[in-house]
Amino acid sequence: MTPRTSHPRHVPGGAMLFQRMYTRLNCEGRPPHFVVEFYPYANLTHSIRLWQDTANVRLSDLLRDAPLEVIEAAAAILLSRLYRRRLPRGIAELYRNYSQAHATRQKLHAVRSKRARRKIRDAQGQRHDLAKLFDELNEKYFQGSMPRPKVGWSTRRWRSQLGIFDPALDQIAINAALDRPHVPEYVVAYVLYHEMLHRKHPIKLARCRLEAHSREFRAEEKKFRDYRRAMKFLKRFA
Ligand SMILES: [Zn+2]
Repeated sequence: MTPRTSHPRHVPGGAMLFQRMYTRLNCEGRPPHFVVEFYPYANLTHSIRLWQDTANVRLSDLLRDAPLEVIEAAAAILLSRLYRRRLPRGIAELYRNYSQAHATRQKLHAVRSKRARRKIRDAQGQRHDLAKLFDELNEKYFQGSMPRPKVGWSTRRWRSQLGIFDPALDQIAINAALDRPHVPEYVVAYVLYHEMLHRKHPIKLARCRLEAHSREFRAEEKKFRDYRRAMKFLKRFA
């Protein structure tokens, strides 16, 4: 969440807008004095409080860039609740459409940033080439039947995981900490093979440490030629 404190809170034309909606809803009597401000609510929440002849309104500042009619709709909804007035036709719907679109945008944004966080580097590292290794492993252990997913080195060195297979992206990322001269190729090949097995036996998201996997998975993993040597190396690896 980005800080929003630098923005002015005052809603330009807010008081007029509320008076207008007050009239449109046929509220009775003299309208209160409206004080309208944007407030950094985490979602599309708005509030209105009447105290003597002043109505203090807080609109979620997520409405800052909303079209005028949406702000009007939010005002009408608040006033209709406060004064128990019927909402003019179409307003509830207009507002609902806006908030649903807003929710969709937020979801999209979350997905995109998650994907951005899982960006990977090229398969060709400084020391080891994952694409070449993938093809060799595919030939040797999968009869060449596995279509190549996106394969690459992690952008940063991870402390506690060796690789990830993300089925949503069809992507294997290998810890860049393994792309170093003192790490033997069979170790990198083992970690990649392990992730390829995750691709073969799909689960949600494999974040691999040396944790338990299913029995079948482990059995198949042990077919890797340098399994023992690789495990031995990785147990010392930090
Ligand atoms: Zn795993």
